[in-house]
Amino acid sequence: MKVPILVPNIFDYPFTYETGNIKLKVGDYVLIPFGKSQITGVVWNEFEGKNNKKFLIKKVISKLNIPSLNIKIINFLNWFSKYNLIPKGMVLKLLLLKSEAITDIDLKEFIKFKINTEKKNFFLTEEQNNALKDLNNEIDKFRVHVLQGTTGSGKTIVYFESIKKIIDKGHQVLVMLPEIGLTGQFEKKFREFFGFSAAIWHSGIAPKKKKIIWNGIATEKIKVVIGARSSLFLPFKNLGLIIVDEEHDQSYKQDEGIIYNARDMAISRAYFQNIPINLITAVPSLETFENIISKKYKISKILNRYKDASLPNYEIIDLNKSKLETKSWISQDVIKKVKKHLDIKDQVLFFLNRRGFAPFAFCKKCLKNYLCPNCSINLVYHKHEKNLLCHYCGYKGNLQRKCNENDNCNFIFSGPGVERISEELKKIFPNEKQIIFSSDTMNKKDSSTILEKIVNNKISILIGTQLISKGFHFPNLNCIVVVDIDLSSQGHDLRGAEKNLQLYHQLAGRAGRTGKPATVYFQTYNLNKNLIIDITNKNPDIFLEKELQIRKKNNLPPFQRFISLILSSDNEKKLQKNSMEFKNYISSKLNYLVLGPINAPIYKIRKKFRIRLLIRGKKSLNIQESLHQLIKNFKFEKEIKLSVDVDPISFN
Ligand SMILES: [Zn+2]
Ligand SMILES: [Zn+2]
Repeated sequence: MKVPILVPNIFDYPFTYETGNIKLKVGDYVLIPFGKSQITGVVWNEFEGKNNKKFLIKKVISKLNIPSLNIKIINFLNWFSKYNLIPKGMVLKLLLLKSEAITDIDLKEFIKFKINTEKKNFFLTEEQNNALKDLNNEIDKFRVHVLQGTTGSGKTIVYFESIKKIIDKGHQVLVMLPEIGLTGQFEKKFREFFGFSAAIWHSGIAPKKKKIIWNGIATEKIKVVIGARSSLFLPFKNLGLIIVDEEHDQSYKQDEGIIYNARDMAISRAYFQNIPINLITAVPSLETFENIISKKYKISKILNRYKDASLPNYEIIDLNKSKLETKSWISQDVIKKVKKHLDIKDQVLFFLNRRGFAPFAFCKKCLKNYLCPNCSINLVYHKHEKNLLCHYCGYKGNLQRKCNENDNCNFIFSGPGVERISEELKKIFPNEKQIIFSSDTMNKKDSSTILEKIVNNKISILIGTQLISKGFHFPNLNCIVVVDIDLSSQGHDLRGAEKNLQLYHQLAGRAGRTGKPATVYFQTYNLNKNLIIDITNKNPDIFLEKELQIRKKNNLPPFQRFISLILSSDNEKKLQKNSMEFKNYISSKLNYLVLGPINAPIYKIRKKFRIRLLIRGKKSLNIQESLHQLIKNFKFEKEIKLSVDVDPISFN
């Protein structure tokens, strides 16, 4: 018998194989000869298109000892490939573990995941209870339910309760989180609540552990997975519920390599598997908000904070009045207020969304600044590491440079980063323990020890980038200083306003979580306080409605589909020529608006020049289908790489 088998590589279609005397059905994992090697493939649900050349049909070697892939997952992967314009084989590669299916794992590896039916009771407020009832509704089919709750209102405990019910019914559950750093604190919380372990899945998990988990999910020995973006592709045997926590978080968008939005794709997976999905947030994304308004999604709200904690107060520090000294970023006003908080053992957070010491370095003699040799972007000075770092390609440069043959450059560092704020704070508060909370300090092995110290109030001053806004629970944090709110109003991102609202709402939500009064201070020169009014409003829906009207009026997402096409090459001339040709080709054949080509705002990344096109049109799969054909038929020059970004978030 002949069967179609999809292999994890760049092909967009399955290959035909002969089964011999092995009995096979759709979804079975198999070992097959491919070229000169043996690889893993999956029996697919459709044969390759007619236009492929005739190859000698080879025989399947063996069927692998693992439950077959659910046809619903296959349908999802096929759709995913169409929607995101990614070859089917590459999508399968996301599902397999290093292109393999993992079989035969020792049973003892799964002991800690064994579910514990011993029930603990947690107190829920009336609001929480009502939300739980909603979440427990219609759990036998696809539906999207949004749980919108003020930061610190105990959303997690509500959806944990809802997970119990799904597990009781014998299904598996996937909980998605936007940030790897969160999984540790979260895992602990889960174990305390359920009495057994959830499997943690993200890029930092050791390969050996990943094998156990992958197998445990495919064989249903693992019931609950807490994972980052990539967990979306795990081969659950019996998935019954997906939860996307912090659904508004833009980290769900995978921006490089295989480009997709994990939140949106999670909703599609739930649809194809006909299971419920819950989106959890304090301030919904505009896409989600639109779906709530148009009644496609249901919603429950928790307005009060848990244990009657109140939301923090807000205070604006006018820097025109409370002047800063040169090379200083903290005003006297703020220092006075912070002292009061420190006196009563409150933890204080200084927020500045800039890693390193200073964002620019330039020589005051020759006036040249430091650019990354690979990217068209400034190098950031990291004082701790004693180097200049490119935040795009990771290039490291040292500070030795000459103006001319006999004269060394004399550098000035312009603007603050978290390290610089930390230095200033060490001078102001020499006796307080402090720590920088950024991806440079927190994505390391000792980060869980640091987290514990913060939770136990062993550290009194935190200096953090946006990483700290993401769902961490620090019980003593009762004072936040936003060092420079004016920085946030810069930029021309279409989602800028929405992003700021979510960021500062989340950030403020870190404060005052255990009932003590808390305050957020905003330092600003800008007397137009709209941004601050929006972000401090207790009801974020007011802003979202306003923003949605603007998007509607201007025909922007979520009312229209955007698809970004980014062409890149190290050959600038060919890139410009080819981009123009490609634009002319697609705009003559496509019934949608094609904008560009324009040089990308960051014109060079990793030595590749970048040119962007943007396609705008009505929301339907038609755009992707026609575009797919056109891309296939267009002859790109060898050196040109095209990446397609459906529903782009970043326009860099
Ligand atoms: Zn670079
Ligand atoms: Zn110089």
